[in-house]
Amino acid sequence: MVLAALLALSPWIALSPWIAPIPGAEVLRGYQPPDQSWTAGHRGIDFSASSGTPVYALGPGVVVFAGQIAGKPVISVQHPDLDLRSTYEPVLASVKRGDSVVAGELIGSVADIGGHCAGRCLHLGLKDPGAGAYRNPLELLRPGTAVLKAPAG
Ligand SMILES: [Zn+2]
Repeated sequence: MVLAALLALSPWIALSPWIAPIPGAEVLRGYQPPDQSWTAGHRGIDFSASSGTPVYALGPGVVVFAGQIAGKPVISVQHPDLDLRSTYEPVLASVKRGDSVVAGELIGSVADIGGHCAGRCLHLGLKDPGAGAYRNPLELLRPGTAVLKAPAG
């Protein structure tokens, strides 16, 4: 009973630990939600990576997008357990729309074109499509699977 209540109150705690998309990778830039929806921010986190670095699914889900958005190769995975969607960019997909993935499954590799991470990092976003809101992906990851740098500025 107590456990059930805890699970109901804390679905994120119950369902983490997920894994980092690049296990052990250093976080170059953290999550900086914008003050207002129209102001600049950083709606995700950047992991240190180079072109060709393998990228893995955070958790179990279904690939809902694998292709180009404005010249940037992007993969999105819907995670039905949490009703959240993870987005990986710029990533050349080795999966296709409709594929089911498990936590830690290889989904592609970092591309050298597209977005602020081209050839130097992986941008990971996490969105609640129902609420239209972004979340901090680090809240979901198992401790130790990502390496945090001291916050800059
Ligand atoms: Zn980023």
